[in-house]
Amino acid sequence: MLWKRIFLLILFLFSIFSLCLAADDFKDLRRQMVENQLKKRGIKNKRVLWAMNEVKRHKFVPLQSIAYAYADHPLRIGNGQTISQPYIVALMTEIIDPKKTDRVLEIGTGSGYQAAVLSLLSGEVYSVEIIPELAKSAATRLNKLEYKNVFVKAGDGFLGWPEAAPFDCIIITCSTPRIPEPLIAQLKEAGRLILPLAEGYPQKLCLFTKDKNKMVKKYITDVLFVPMKGKVEQEKMRD
Ligand code: SAH
Repeated sequence: MLWKRIFLLILFLFSIFSLCLAADDFKDLRRQMVENQLKKRGIKNKRVLWAMNEVKRHKFVPLQSIAYAYADHPLRIGNGQTISQPYIVALMTEIIDPKKTDRVLEIGTGSGYQAAVLSLLSGEVYSVEIIPELAKSAATRLNKLEYKNVFVKAGDGFLGWPEAAPFDCIIITCSTPRIPEPLIAQLKEAGRLILPLAEGYPQKLCLFTKDKNKMVKKYITDVLFVPMKGKVEQEKMRD
């Protein structure tokens, strides 16, 4: 029994040690991710490619998924939620194209990964997460990694973040059947909003641009995101 325990302990320590050694290799995995998953699929914006190469995605996934941190698919992050596929993060970022002085609102902090990518490309990032445990862990993680221009709050993103409005860009990383009205009010004139619209299956990733208080829609591609909780979900149940 004792030998078995000692063996398991050695195995555990060895895995941690290998993971630490592998930490350097993640740089290669990140470069390969940018080359094979992003550039080959048409992501061109140099700033976005740079940010995707900078942010250590393996710091945003649970320990048991570290080996898959740079894989070409979403990953579970706990509480029934996921961190999006790298390509989708890059695509959404490229489309809203945040500028260094922009104020960005994200709905659905999740792991904080998308917020970290945005933080390197914009002035300030405000991110709202409805699951308090995820909001807390993402805030702690972003703070530890010194993403100083990201602010996280727990709450229903349907309501946005009125105190920090108006925003140049809004990115919604959970699917919803319509744009929450408060978010339209919190978007600047000529501001960009991107979201997965849950109009049937599959969902439609759409870009909206605010033009004299009208939201002009452009379809991007089909996607699959977790559904928005809170007010939108309750409305759906009442229908
Ligand atoms: N952007 C995240 C992934 C988002 S997954 C990342 O980079 O890791 C979608 C997230 O939206 C989940 O964490 C989910 O809890 C959150 N969410 C769902 N409904 C929400 C709402 N009404 N307000 C804020 N966050 C919400």
